[in-house]
Amino acid sequence: MNKLVIASNNAGKLREFQHMLAPLGIEVLTQSQLGVSEAEEPHCTFIENALAKARHVSKLSGLPALADDSGICVDALGGAPGVISARYAGEPKSDRRNNDKLLQTLQGVTDRRAHYYCVLVLVRHADDPQPLIAEGEWHGEIAQEERGDGGFGYDPMFWLPEFGKMSAELSHDEKAQISHRAKALKVLLAKLRN
Ligand code: IMP
Repeated sequence: MNKLVIASNNAGKLREFQHMLAPLGIEVLTQSQLGVSEAEEPHCTFIENALAKARHVSKLSGLPALADDSGICVDALGGAPGVISARYAGEPKSDRRNNDKLLQTLQGVTDRRAHYYCVLVLVRHADDPQPLIAEGEWHGEIAQEERGDGGFGYDPMFWLPEFGKMSAELSHDEKAQISHRAKALKVLLAKLRN
């Protein structure tokens, strides 16, 4: 497999995948380059949405497709925003409004524990009966305010006590070593090699 379509239009995710997959000599195409529409994400679990996205893109492009469904899960909110992380503050999707809503919702809450979750699904073709599936988690806390201009989404408020930094303050290389997406991708690539 030397060509792969990433089933996403999220610029932040695409940048990270291109960065992480470049050394492997896999040509990474995006669904918008191929004129493929965005898939519906109607399900209440990450894995179901990731499968739907991968199948949709593979079917319309005729190429292997890699989908990522991810989000942030906050302990004090019972795992919310979870699968609706991208649309937490409603449509149209807005990182700015999502972040404001999360900070506001957590006002006065002392338990700030949270984790990012990512599931990756790789289908070799739309009806692939044996998709490759890999998961990754990245634990931290929701800070009281935002800092940093790297990353995307909730990164400016995702505090990493062991680094003394927000994830938006990490370099591309640092995030590509330790993030939920990086962990899931490592597992996926090991499965692919096997
Ligand atoms: P999806 O495109 O439906 O999988 O939504 C993913 C959403 O989860 C993004 O729009 C962000 O809000 C959030 N998210 C997932 N991964 C990250 C990350 O690495 N940094 C910041 N936010 C993330």
